Amino acid sequence: MYNLAPSKQDKILEVIATVAELESSLKPLKAKGLKIALVPTMGALHNGHLSLIAEAQKKADVVVCSIFVNPTQFTDPKDLEKYPRPLEHDIKMLTEAGCNFVFMPSVKEMYPSYPSPENWAIDLGNAEYVLEGEFRKGHYQGVTQIVFKLFDAVKPDVAFFGQKDFQQVLMIKNMVNELGLDVEIMTCPIIREEDGLAMSSRNIHLSPTDRAHSLVLSKALFFIEQNYEKQSFSDLLRNAKQIINEAPDVELDYLTIVDGDTLLPITEKAHQNTVALVAAKVGETRLIDNVIIN
Ligand code: AMP
Repeated sequence: MYNLAPSKQDKILEVIATVAELESSLKPLKAKGLKIALVPTMGALHNGHLSLIAEAQKKADVVVCSIFVNPTQFTDPKDLEKYPRPLEHDIKMLTEAGCNFVFMPSVKEMYPSYPSPENWAIDLGNAEYVLEGEFRKGHYQGVTQIVFKLFDAVKPDVAFFGQKDFQQVLMIKNMVNELGLDVEIMTCPIIREEDGLAMSSRNIHLSPTDRAHSLVLSKALFFIEQNYEKQSFSDLLRNAKQIINEAPDVELDYLTIVDGDTLLPITEKAHQNTVALVAAKVGETRLIDNVIIN
């Protein structure tokens, strides 16, 4: 999907493992006044990640992609253990994409006292505790902890995140406001497979049957999007849940229509900032997806 100009392929990707190395590599570039972008990821890269790199390249002179499977944001140790880590594939993708730096630190580099926890408690507002925050307790404290550390290491002018993790972007913006950080946060649209499934590193865990069943999630969201003006909230949600129930082995955590800032369900049709979000286990794999309605 992201075809690369030949000139981009000539660039050399620098692989960096420590904060000290990263700081010394970026220092001369910053001294020249170049604009630095950060794209934080957990690796197992796909076209969704590459769309963030492509947007970062449009907006900045130097693009740093981080790959770090952050243990403090996982609530299920098995999920952390089985998270895919295809590093050679990732490096190849970033090289072909013309990314300048990939920062791949060890857990000890980011958390010297690991597995002893470090102090981190930040007020992210009430939206921290709903949706993903309800099903994955403490998840956004872990996410903001690592993103803060990455911001501190890279000191980017701008950082890119995907709308795929809608609540995550809100939490990061809340952290930036709360701590008064000097970094611009950009949100990029969801990249989907041709049949509608939102791309995700976790899709690799779906069996062929799960993969077929997973389509009910995007179908339900598109149903809400297309019928939003025509149906009441209760009809929209009931009909969309029926679509999800058509697939066996899909265990719904939530399907909801919310205000994009508070993440609380809306009861009256609003003309802006309305989002429908879904989370479900498909077989053994937990997937999330959303559509911005207006
Ligand atoms: P992850 O590696 O899953 O932590 O994701 C790293 C970044 O890529 C996050 O900002 C995600 O929201 C974003 N991302 C993941 N999947 C997609 C997708 N399908 N489309 C756009 N962005 C995505």
